[in-house]
Amino acid sequence: MSLNAKTVRIAGSRPKKKAVSRQNKDNLYARIDESKFNRYVVHDLPRYRKYLSEGGAAIYSADELDALEEAGVSDRLPPRATGYYLDLAKRSDAVKNLIKARPEEMDDLSGEADPSNQLKYSPIPGLLHKYELCLVYVVRTCSSWCRYCYRSDFLTGKTGKDTASIHEVKDYIETHNAKVETGEITDKPKVREVLLSGGDPMVLSNRNLFDYLNGLAEAGVEVIRIGTKEMAFFPERFDDNFFEMLDLFHEVHPNVLVAFMVHFTHADEFLRLNEAGEYVRNERGGYLRNPLVERAATRLKSRPFVTLENQTPIIDGVNDDADALRLMQRELKRMGVNNHYFFQCREIEGFRAFAVPVEKAWKLHAESQHGLSGIERSRFALSTEAGKMEMVSVIDGDERLRALGGELGEALADGLVIFRLHRTPYSDRQSDIVIARRNPDALWISGYEDRILYDGRVHDAGDKWAPLLAALAPALLQAAE
Ligand code: SF4
Repeated sequence: MSLNAKTVRIAGSRPKKKAVSRQNKDNLYARIDESKFNRYVVHDLPRYRKYLSEGGAAIYSADELDALEEAGVSDRLPPRATGYYLDLAKRSDAVKNLIKARPEEMDDLSGEADPSNQLKYSPIPGLLHKYELCLVYVVRTCSSWCRYCYRSDFLTGKTGKDTASIHEVKDYIETHNAKVETGEITDKPKVREVLLSGGDPMVLSNRNLFDYLNGLAEAGVEVIRIGTKEMAFFPERFDDNFFEMLDLFHEVHPNVLVAFMVHFTHADEFLRLNEAGEYVRNERGGYLRNPLVERAATRLKSRPFVTLENQTPIIDGVNDDADALRLMQRELKRMGVNNHYFFQCREIEGFRAFAVPVEKAWKLHAESQHGLSGIERSRFALSTEAGKMEMVSVIDGDERLRALGGELGEALADGLVIFRLHRTPYSDRQSDIVIARRNPDALWISGYEDRILYDGRVHDAGDKWAPLLAALAPALLQAAE
């Protein structure tokens, strides 16, 4: 599939056919109520100045706001947060660093405008079909914006991606699945699973969210994932009206599983913090949870058609600490949330300001697994264009091996990194590996591209060792003479 005029649509021109979606469903939509939330969102530097002058949480000093203005951080991504999250940030450095803009974001804007070349996998506007599942953009904002946001190009509209029309999505899935059944499409299975993303689907109204859920279920989708950080940014969103809508959806489509792909980055987002920013313990020494988050999680997990999975990147100054990562994984599992992925910070523009080097992030994650049980553990991966590359191991080198000479000697002396293609769009490459010479400064897979010895990402089996063979060519020639 290649990028064509159909995949890019002027933002905001999505065909809106609510009347069609909701036709003959008055009985359903009449049962969905909306809530009036007061998220009190502080968006961009002028609002922060006002918020500060009104006595809001002092996340920035006036001087810091001047420095951010001068650096032009809003051109990359305006700072944005809910009053709820800002209040939490007063008591937590991790939370503060997650939403606080840094002038150095603008020092080096190298990075991908469209991370992992997503548009290449977009057959219709707002829908990505890379793996067996589809990702659907349903809304262009979140109630707060993480500085490391890997969808910042979408939030700011810089790459021209639009939200999806549920009618076009339904049509695409039904047509794709019919073609798989007749054998017209053989390189991808039927679409059974869809991830609703954005932005954050949980900032949609209940009726708009129901449009997407119901439309996907009508198209035959069996698992709908909802990618959301709203349990951290504004947990009150998970209120009675939301759960009534969710239960109504289950009543109409009892066989569809709803997986909440939540995004907690640090335990400070869901454990109870006192005014001094310390965790509050119960009489048995266990950790108490933030009551709003706990209530949302408890109500979600009490529904047998719902699962909860956490995924988050490892970010400088936020969660780059093995003990904090371990505590988060342990306490999430206790709250009923499965630990799915930890990711390397993606190579968005400006990512150098908050990315942790790949090998350091791997080490932190590996250390954090120590002491966790099998059901508490997670994977550390890079979400690259070639697929989700799990970082399996970093092997220390042995200086004595440099005597072998050439690229192989250098690699064995410096040490190796090993990635495994955990998820790939190509069935012939599933679970293959990539071996590269270490690079402690690498922030992304691009830092290893000129050090690769074995490349399981390439299609032709004969080419996988090509980088090593090229490095060894002089020695091989000599041996052959
Ligand atoms: S919650 Fe996700 S989409 Fe929203 S700002 Fe954070 S990383 Fe971006």
